[in-house]
Amino acid sequence: MANTFNQDFKLGILGGGQLGRMLIQSGIDFNFNFEVLDPDKNAPCRWLAPFTEGKLTDFDTVMKFGQSCDIITIEIENVNTAALKEMVKKGKKIFPQPEVIELIQDKRVQKTFYKDNNIPTASFVLTENQADVARLITFPMVNKLGKEGYDGRGVQILRTRDDLKHAFDKPGLLEELVPFEKEISVIVARNTHGQIETFPAVEMVFHPEQNLVEYLFAPAQISTEIASCADAIARTIIGKLNMVGLLAVEMFVTASGEVLVNEIAPRPHNSGHQTIEANVTSQYEQHLRAITGLPLGKTDLIMPSAMVNLLGEPGYSGPARYAGFEEVLGVKGVHVHLYGKNQTKPFRKMGHVTILDEDIDSLKKKANFVKQTLKVIA
Ligand code: ADP
Repeated sequence: MANTFNQDFKLGILGGGQLGRMLIQSGIDFNFNFEVLDPDKNAPCRWLAPFTEGKLTDFDTVMKFGQSCDIITIEIENVNTAALKEMVKKGKKIFPQPEVIELIQDKRVQKTFYKDNNIPTASFVLTENQADVARLITFPMVNKLGKEGYDGRGVQILRTRDDLKHAFDKPGLLEELVPFEKEISVIVARNTHGQIETFPAVEMVFHPEQNLVEYLFAPAQISTEIASCADAIARTIIGKLNMVGLLAVEMFVTASGEVLVNEIAPRPHNSGHQTIEANVTSQYEQHLRAITGLPLGKTDLIMPSAMVNLLGEPGYSGPARYAGFEEVLGVKGVHVHLYGKNQTKPFRKMGHVTILDEDIDSLKKKANFVKQTLKVIA
């Protein structure tokens, strides 16, 4: 008889946001049992699994939460890794491993890791404070905060002497400003047996002011050489980290065809939402397969796709309403995902829409239609 998969385990998720929500949605198909920890009592996962309200960065809270779990994963990097390390000692399975989470929590350690392992990345120097930045800079450069700078808040371009007064006065780094042509992402997974699978590269388009992904296209419109270079880099990184789980590798592609790693995230990622409909296996299912030791799924593209983040419309705060919902659902290939957040505010991530179409031009037209039509207001 074939093996029987032992499903008698509890899977704890640190973070109860939309990534956790989609992870649970996927895990339901495998009869997995989840538990969730999040500081927000109205988090998107609130009603999907047994829920504990508590701080992810607090040692005792994370330890206590972990007691009832067998496998613990994250959907956000800002968690107490000291507690996770303690739990590893007690025999709990923590994926991604706490050491990997720690490396990624600090952009300085992350960049040093690339340098030490010959992984192509923009050149950089570490800085301790504002005075260091002033001393080491040649204009223009990108100034990044080492820790706790999410969604573009810890990243700024310094162009002139005048900008120095805004330089980060905490441990950070100065990085060469890359004149990139494209930003792409490759999501790679590695399971507990060391099997590795990558998703085809996708291409990101950023909102000019907010530094949030505005559109995403899959597959990225890049040459096969660049695609295989990006794929190889993603495999190398997850292998060198010895990591188990899903890793999103964000990269710049320059005009001369250079591929440089910008940053990595050890969890399901915004650049992989479209895999739910557009790929043979979704990033969420792949993450679950990886951390529970199941064989990884094939990642082939079913159809080209676009993904539009649904952000709270500027000027509206309060109970969320969705204008244009029926109009966009009338378009062939449009899939709306709402994250269960009651309250909207400007630029809050409230959902996303995936659009599938065989024809790239038609796909872009539909993505634009969705962006202009579906609005989160209050
Ligand atoms: P975050 O961790 O906040 O997502 P990132 O390091 O990804 O920050 O930077 C946010 C955005 O800033 C990137 O997606 C890119 O558009 C731009 N950026 C970051 N580093 C550079 C760089 N060295 N050169 C040019 N643009 C950069």
